[in-house]
Amino acid sequence: MKIASKTIPQSQWINEKLHPSWQQNFEVDQLLVDTKTSYQHLQIFENATFGKVMMLDGVTQTTERDEFIYHEMLAHIPMVAHGSATSVLVIGGGDGGIIREVLKHPKLSSVTMVEIDAGVVEYSKRYMPSLSQGAFENNKVKLHIADAAEFVKTTTDKFDVIITDSTDPMGPGESLFTESFYSDCKKCLKPGGIMVTQSGVPFMQPQGIKNMQTMLCTFFESVNFYLMPVPTYIGGTMVIGFACDTPEYTQQSLQTLNEKSAYLNEKTKYYTPKIHQSSFSIPPFIQKLLK
Ligand code: SAM
Repeated sequence: MKIASKTIPQSQWINEKLHPSWQQNFEVDQLLVDTKTSYQHLQIFENATFGKVMMLDGVTQTTERDEFIYHEMLAHIPMVAHGSATSVLVIGGGDGGIIREVLKHPKLSSVTMVEIDAGVVEYSKRYMPSLSQGAFENNKVKLHIADAAEFVKTTTDKFDVIITDSTDPMGPGESLFTESFYSDCKKCLKPGGIMVTQSGVPFMQPQGIKNMQTMLCTFFESVNFYLMPVPTYIGGTMVIGFACDTPEYTQQSLQTLNEKSAYLNEKTKYYTPKIHQSSFSIPPFIQKLLK
């Protein structure tokens, strides 16, 4: 795998164009990695505002400066809501931020990560170690380099929580937005299990949350969405699908959430029980997209 470690002039910018008439650009202070892995075009570069930035196929995946919001919210909302999860499945998540946060839950006995691209793990560990912070070496972590769509089809393992931290529905990520994938995930969940899925930025991609709701409602009795602001996922708040067969999970009182998450005090920079509860408040313009 070619590693570019050239320093390029300040005037260089990397562009992310997700929408026809609106895009974002990052000024590149140093290009650390620019390579084609077996699956994707992977870039990691230094930016004065966001620190190290990872992009896959030209799409912003994570940055040192704002990753904590996304990784805390994707991990702690289902883990606290469930309250006694011992086995977790992470789909994608090759940068290691999700498993770093999941490992903060004392009842956890194992977290299985299924990441299709070994290059993402390799380069994240080497150039963005602040994301995984040694999580990959934790003996509770089982890393599989595989297509997660295949993994959930064939595994006999069962999980309390499934966290989908995938790329958008394109390239290798496409297989993670199919009905068969969600059907197989449901079969992998233990009774009382929870699945959370990144569902895009509804202000810019309204179809994303609509498709996700339709898909999740096919397999789960209770489907809700919660919000978080991730500056580099441009276009406003990102929504996460929260699917389970236990409606009580999203009706827990603030006092209950406080009690269930006490061990997280001082260990998070975004997640709090109040944020947990309020993140499920969906504004009318997004509610209108939902059935
Ligand atoms: N936080 C980012 C977001 O919301 O767009 C996602 C970050 S993480 C780097 C996304 C990961 O999903 C990548 O490492 C990618 O290789 C992985 N991925 C994509 N398709 C996959 C598949 N079919 N099976 C397993 N991992 C997959």
